[in-house]
Amino acid sequence: MTPTRPPRSEDDSDRTALAEDAAAVESAVEQLIEESLAPDTQPAAIVGYGRLRGKVAIVTGASRGLGRAIALDLASAGVHIAFNFLDEGSKSRIEAQSTARELRQLEVRVFCRECDVRNGREVDAFVSAAEAELGGLHILVNNAGIGADRAHWRMTDDEWSAVLRTNVDGTFHTMRAVAPTFRAQEFGKVVNIASVHAERATFGVMNYAASKAAIISMTRTAALELGEHNVNVNAVSPGYIRTTRLTDRVPAEILDRAREHSALGRLGDPQDVANVVLFLCSEAARHITGAVIPVDGGYQL
Ligand code: NDP
Repeated sequence: MTPTRPPRSEDDSDRTALAEDAAAVESAVEQLIEESLAPDTQPAAIVGYGRLRGKVAIVTGASRGLGRAIALDLASAGVHIAFNFLDEGSKSRIEAQSTARELRQLEVRVFCRECDVRNGREVDAFVSAAEAELGGLHILVNNAGIGADRAHWRMTDDEWSAVLRTNVDGTFHTMRAVAPTFRAQEFGKVVNIASVHAERATFGVMNYAASKAAIISMTRTAALELGEHNVNVNAVSPGYIRTTRLTDRVPAEILDRAREHSALGRLGDPQDVANVVLFLCSEAARHITGAVIPVDGGYQL
């Protein structure tokens, strides 16, 4: 006759259950350690902003506003900066000189010159001089841009073409000028500044909206054309960002409406845009290309 085991006490069953749980945990931990040591699952070292130090960036239109904030952020990460401005009055030059001074305080090399992005030859000369002066070229931020708002039936030819020539031709000229260097060195980052108006209809900005939609389209084409040369091309699409251009030009009631329409209930600051541009220029974003990143507080939701 098979001996029958005496019935277990409650304490015995608790102890057995605990021992079984501990064994299961131990085996799960061992499996995790084994998996994490397998060569094909070893995570690559996280490469981030440190790798930016010593690189050279061109930021167009960095005398003030978004461009200035972007240039300062890149310089804080150790990037040497070339920037241009359009000298249409003594104020522009003074603003550009002041930005250049701030950048130099961050102990990077700075190349600052007047250059009209509407003019392809001027852009070619600016890009060559910047590359020679700063000893390389790795990043391009296409920020220079203008608006000239009016209902389309009142818009003049000049208002239409000034915006298209600055925003679209300007972006084309600089991308074309840096492409040979980026392709040859198999490295480059391009960030184009678009706008929420590219995708969301707004009264009175037909010229501006068309120009920013074109910039998004150009970003995607360039990403496709330059991808095999390890060049990332992305766009940032800001909403209403508190620069003097915005606060001087746009009536307060429109800014209030923009605030109400955004999920976060506020306007952005230049730093909000600069943060994302810095990320896109870094190796932390090396697998992102052809993307359009909104920085609009949820304005387009
Ligand atoms: P600002 O007017 O403050 O700055 C524009 C910069 O572009 C200035 O440095 C200006 O130079 C330069 N610039 C203008 N035309 C030319 C040209 N033909 N050649 C060379 N440089 C030129 O604008 P923001 O900082 O507000 O805007 C910057 C970018 O961000 C623009 O592309 C704009 O469309 C975009 N954006 C801005 C938003 C906002 O709310 N502020 C929202 C969405 C997009 P100078 O000082 O000599 O005139």
